[in-house]
Amino acid sequence: MTMTNHIHPVSLVGAGPGDPELLTLGALRRLQQADVILADELADARVLALANPAARVLNVGKRGGRPSTNQRFIHELMIREARSGARVVRLKGGDPFVFGRGGEEADALREAGIPVEVVNGITSGLAGPASIGIPVTDRRCTPGVALVTGHNGDAGIAPDWAALVRSRLTLVVYMGVARCETIVAALREAGMRADMPAAVVAAAHTPRQRQAIGCLAELPATIAREGLASPAILVIGEVVALAAGTESLLERLRVGG
Ligand code: SAH
Repeated sequence: MTMTNHIHPVSLVGAGPGDPELLTLGALRRLQQADVILADELADARVLALANPAARVLNVGKRGGRPSTNQRFIHELMIREARSGARVVRLKGGDPFVFGRGGEEADALREAGIPVEVVNGITSGLAGPASIGIPVTDRRCTPGVALVTGHNGDAGIAPDWAALVRSRLTLVVYMGVARCETIVAALREAGMRADMPAAVVAAAHTPRQRQAIGCLAELPATIAREGLASPAILVIGEVVALAAGTESLLERLRVGG
């Protein structure tokens, strides 16, 4: 490293849920200008294909239950590359500041004296429900939507499920598919009705997208029967019943689509 290197801000860029049509123009431009891209496992290959062909792409995927790149290593790598004068893009699935540790990465960069910018992406928790016609904040059913984690992770704060039930907000649960049974039990205990409409959207906006719609009490069984797995979003609330084409979706599931 030399002191003459100009340090570009590191861009924390949202890749959206999958389909490159959902990228922002800002994200596309950062990808086209990047020298180094540190890509999440959730960043779609079709999005990466739009990047500067000369850019070095480093896969620093993190996925529950599988070996993943150490978070501190990611911080150090971003800092080292930025100090060398490279234009660094940290490409994250969905939105960089909706779960996925974007805030921690921004902190680490700032602490190292490296400027950071955030380029929003479309979060899977909004794009997933929309892809099957669920209007998450429809005012006829709900005062709004809560984006919550279903993973009682390491240093995280677990959602107060009882408070959420009382709030009548639509619940959009990230990282919840593996813990669905526990989540459903907590919601039922807090008084949510067994037949509350509920949906699962897996791999939204990718060629592997699959979904199921049913009711709260049957959600774990539905997930097991359909073999739905991470990455997936749970959507729980009256708005799920407004899903466009709910009937045809159920029909398609019955024929295994
Ligand atoms: N920053 C991301 C979320 C990262 S946390 C975003 O804004 O979307 C990882 C969780 O996101 C997954 O466990 C899953 O719940 C959800 N997720 C990410 N991409 C998804 C997709 N294409 N379809 C469904 N869920 C997705």
